[in-house]
This record gives sequence, structure tokens and C-alpha cells, in this order.
Amino acid sequence: MVHTSKVCKLGHQSLSHDNNLWSHSSKVFTSLYEDHRDNIAFSWTLLLSTNFSMASDSSTNNEIVWTEASVIDIKTFDCIKLLRLKVADKSLTFKPGQWVDFLIPNVSPFTGYSMTSPPSLLASSGVLDLAVKYSDYPPTLWVHEKCKMGDKVQIKVAGGFFYTPPSPSSPGELERDDMLLLAAGIGISPIYCILQHYLERDHRGGKVALLYSCKSPAEMVFKDEILEIARHHDFFTPKLYSSKDSVDEKDKKNIKEGRITESEIQEALSSLNQASAQVYICGPPAFLDKMETFCLSSGLPKDRIYYENW
Ligand SMILES: Cc1cc2nc3c(=O)[nH]c(=O)nc-3n(C[C@H](O)[C@H](O)[C@H](O)COP(=O)(O)OP(=O)(O)OC[C@H]3O[C@@H](n4cnc5c(N)ncnc54)[C@H](O)[C@@H]3O)c2cc1C
Repeated sequence: MVHTSKVCKLGHQSLSHDNNLWSHSSKVFTSLYEDHRDNIAFSWTLLLSTNFSMASDSSTNNEIVWTEASVIDIKTFDCIKLLRLKVADKSLTFKPGQWVDFLIPNVSPFTGYSMTSPPSLLASSGVLDLAVKYSDYPPTLWVHEKCKMGDKVQIKVAGGFFYTPPSPSSPGELERDDMLLLAAGIGISPIYCILQHYLERDHRGGKVALLYSCKSPAEMVFKDEILEIARHHDFFTPKLYSSKDSVDEKDKKNIKEGRITESEIQEALSSLNQASAQVYICGPPAFLDKMETFCLSSGLPKDRIYYENW
């Protein structure tokens, strides 16, 4: 399959990536690529479209469907806005780890934000949650400075980074589902979605380790929720890292100072079934590169390491 181009998001900018970067992604998400081939190759004229509920892909002439969503809750957590959207299209679904392209009327270009809530919440209540870290990129600035309850945006599910349960090694035999989750900064968003989805499914006695690094404890959105999950589930072990700011005495039992090291990756992997454990990574590009290198040198095969370049 030839991947010619991919629209990538960097939190603060959208740009077209070339073939090299796309193939740099550890996994070629064939089925999703098929599903979203039209989305990936969409025409940039879409950005200028005023009636953006439907647009036409210039290469295939297939329709690309956007759906309307209303902002029904806004919370602020440090430099992050937490949005809850009510989605108009009841048939909309997504895979844990995916994002939505997010188009604001009269604000261009659009950008993407990952779902932090699990797919089950959308199925049961028609809502999804996003976390948007502050930047001066126009759509993100709109979220932080202008967005109010009742505002309407257009969204479209996208992205090739999503959780896939391990496939059986032999017919009739299902692998234990072990995962190492590596998150940095606002990269926790899709990882938290994956974690919640995992809690809802049969993981066949699998274990999950999460290593989550932020510059400061103040930026650790979902910290309390993550620690609460760990209190209720023995199979889940989170480790939190503050890489820049020092940690208050009261938080030292939960948060370590410094960055995630290779030996900590090795330690986390040693608690998992290394024959089948999968690794999901999200964060800044330098973090992705470093974590992948650590995982590879710890003996994990490349085809079980998943991340996506924005
Ligand atoms: C798949 C995907 C989904 C995304 N979803 C969203 C979203 O929903 N909302 C959103 O606003 N943005 C999202 N982004 C954008 C993206 O997460 C941010 O632009 C980018 O991760 C920077 O995040 P940050 O500013 O929080 O990181 P920073 O605060 O700059 O860094 C976070 C942590 O990474 C560590 N780190 C940085 N470099 C290294 C290194 N070389 N080695 C070790 N540790 C390092 C830092 O020490 C720090 O602890 C997404 C990106 C991807 C790839």
C-alpha cells in the first residue's frame, strides 16, 4: 500500500507530512487506513468550505462526513481546557486512542484533539470528552478564550493510533492482554481513553503499567483519576514523573522527580508478559523517539510498539 501523504497535527499546527514520517509510525494501520483513506487524502479546499457538513474528496469523489457537536461542559485544569461535546450523529463511533478533527465556524484551519473518554460513553450518552492544552494556534486559542457553553463545532473521527487487543497466537487460544502505556504532557489524552476502555473489557488476567511524565505536577490532568483506578485494580500500576518542577513532600509517594529512564521502562516491562505485551506511546516527538528507542533496546519488537506522529 502506498501512503502518499498524511495530515498531521502538532497541537498547535496542522501540516502535511510526507511518506517518510508516515512510515516512521511503528504500525501501518491498514484497516483504519482503508476506513479513513478518504479523510487522510482530503482536499485542503475543505478548510475554506463554509458549508462544511459534507465535503467531497477530490481524489475519490467520495463524501467525507462531518457531524455537528455542541459544547455542553467546559472545565479548566491548569493550562488545559476540558470540553464535553454532545454529538448530533447517533451512529458516530471511534476506536480508543483516536482523535477528532475539530472545525470551528469562522476559524481556520482546523486541528485535532484526542478523545479522553472511552467509546462506551459516546455509545451510551452521545457525548465525548476532549482535553486541549493552551497554545496560540487559532483553533486552540478559540477553545481557551472564546468557547462557551452551547457553541457548535464540526467534528470528524480520524487517526491511526488506537488500541487493538492482541490477536490469538493459535486458533482458540487468546493471549493475555498486557500493556505498557507511556504518556507525556497532554499526550495522556488518548492513553487515558485507552486505559478506560481496557478496564471495561476482558483482559484475560492481563496487566497494565503506565509511565506518565509532565513538566510539573500541576499539569498532570487525570492524575487523581489514574491513582483512583490503581486503588481499585491490582493489575494496573501507574508511575508519575515531574521532569522540571520539584514535587511537594505530600505528593512524593506518587510522583517521582525527573524523566522516564530506560531502566524504568525495563522494570515496567518485567512486570508484564513480554511475549505479548503491547506498548502505546503518546507525547511530544522527542519523547516518542526516546521511548521507542528504550523499548527496542529492552527487547520489545517494533511491531508491538504503537504511536503516531502528529
Ligand atoms: C496521537 C496524539 C494525540 C494528541 N492529542 C492531543 C490532544 O488531545 N490535545 C492537545 O492539546 N494536544 C494533543 N496532542 C499534541 C501533543 O501531545 C502535544 O503537542 C505534544 O505532545 C506536546 O505536549 P506538551 O506541551 O504537553 O509536552 P511538554 O509539556 O513539552 O512535555 C511533556 C513531557 O515530555 C517530556 N519530554 C519531552 N521531551 C522528552 C525527551 N526527549 N525525552 C524524555 N522526555 C521528554 C518532558 O520532560 C515532559 O515531562 C496529541 C499528539 C499526538 C501525537
